[in-house]
Amino acid sequence: MTTPAPTGLEQPDRAFSTAETALIIGAGLAGCACARTLAGSGFTCKLYDRNADLAAATSAVPAAIHQPHLTRTDQLRRRYYLAAYKRSLTEFSAPEYQSLYHRTGLLKLVDDVDSWSDHHSWERHSQTSASLLAGTTVASEALYLKDAGWISPHALCTHWVTTDASISFHGGTEISGLRRTMSGWLLLDAQGKTIDESRLVILANGGQMTRFDATSHFPLQALRGQMSFFDGPDLLPPAAPIISGKGYILPGKSGFWSGATHQRDNTSVTTSVADDLKNAAQVNALLPDLLPPNQATTSWAGVRCTTPDRLPLIGAAPDASFYRQAYADLHHGRTNQSFPKAQFEDGLFVIGGFGSRGVIHSLHAATALCGIIQAEHSVPPEFLAATHPGRFLLRQLRRN
Ligand SMILES: Cc1cc2nc3c(=O)[nH]c(=O)nc-3n(C[C@H](O)[C@H](O)[C@H](O)COP(=O)(O)OP(=O)(O)OC[C@H]3O[C@@H](n4cnc5c(N)ncnc54)[C@H](O)[C@@H]3O)c2cc1C
Repeated sequence: MTTPAPTGLEQPDRAFSTAETALIIGAGLAGCACARTLAGSGFTCKLYDRNADLAAATSAVPAAIHQPHLTRTDQLRRRYYLAAYKRSLTEFSAPEYQSLYHRTGLLKLVDDVDSWSDHHSWERHSQTSASLLAGTTVASEALYLKDAGWISPHALCTHWVTTDASISFHGGTEISGLRRTMSGWLLLDAQGKTIDESRLVILANGGQMTRFDATSHFPLQALRGQMSFFDGPDLLPPAAPIISGKGYILPGKSGFWSGATHQRDNTSVTTSVADDLKNAAQVNALLPDLLPPNQATTSWAGVRCTTPDRLPLIGAAPDASFYRQAYADLHHGRTNQSFPKAQFEDGLFVIGGFGSRGVIHSLHAATALCGIIQAEHSVPPEFLAATHPGRFLLRQLRRN
């Protein structure tokens, strides 16, 4: 069998042993899932966050929907999201998640339900039968996924971290710098003093990943969003599913959440009345018979971290200067030229770019990363290549 020619999307050869302590920066869904998965493989994990509590930034979203991404055609992104959804669904089916995961089912309103025929796990419903499921008239035909639901990421992260003694949480600790040494990496505070050191460091700090020199090249984008809670205990039946279409309605105790707005390159977490009004307008577009909601009683805003291709970043941090030099000829389109194998910032890994789907991404990404760290790959090669942290450098070089 011939070995495939290097493409820049290889994985590192080095396997880290469980003798190394994993230092993880960022204690949101990405960092906590990573700690949980590495601890499950025998690593001792130290989780650092600048906030005092777990899941206190984007993962503080009050209720996060757990559903795969739906696309009409069978493309890599659909396969990826489905695999990620199945991974978390298997996890959430364990007894320990019974009080955490709310398996409400989800109705996805679509225009032409028959054109979604190859989505086997989704039931197809006419507008009438979808309205029966919802307990009120829905705006169109719909697809129904009975195992979809919602979870509180804060509760999930707390569960992962506090039920495993190999994970310690160091809240209120901002990591201001990273320095490479002969033997590994130092985590530095704002004065340049060493906070900790290890051969194995994982960046799970969302959009803040680009503040470090070694990872400043990632093209991460901020996407602000707001969700709004509307009071109304009798508006929806108690067991109503989540209704999703352009926006969503997530039934809760004594009312429902509606969301979420999307504003590119806006990093403000201050809530706005204008966004509450947008969310209120969305409710009636989904459920026309529902009375227009009163003013929102609570709102929450956060900033999603997205990548240009809407797939996460998972793996070893690429050595950017090596990539720029070794793959410079890619812009000539020389596909038959032989390129050297990818090189990395030894011992530095990244996980993030989860966009609006942090719940389904976190465990699948953590499983993939845990395999990469131990050089024992557990997810298909097409997924490793699609989420490879070096892909954006390669794309940039090709465009040049
Ligand atoms: C309005 C809205 C609605 C959403 N709805 C859903 C939904 O329905 N379903 C879903 O699955 N997802 C949803 N999401 C997305 C989901 O919240 C994110 O994908 C997920 O929380 C990202 O997790 P993360 O761990 O990558 O990032 P974060 O939760 O932001 O974690 C990064 C952590 O790194 C820490 N940090 C940063 N820099 C440093 C540093 N230098 N030193 C120490 N610590 C640092 C931060 O304090 C933070 O705790 C929504 C997001 C928004 C904004």
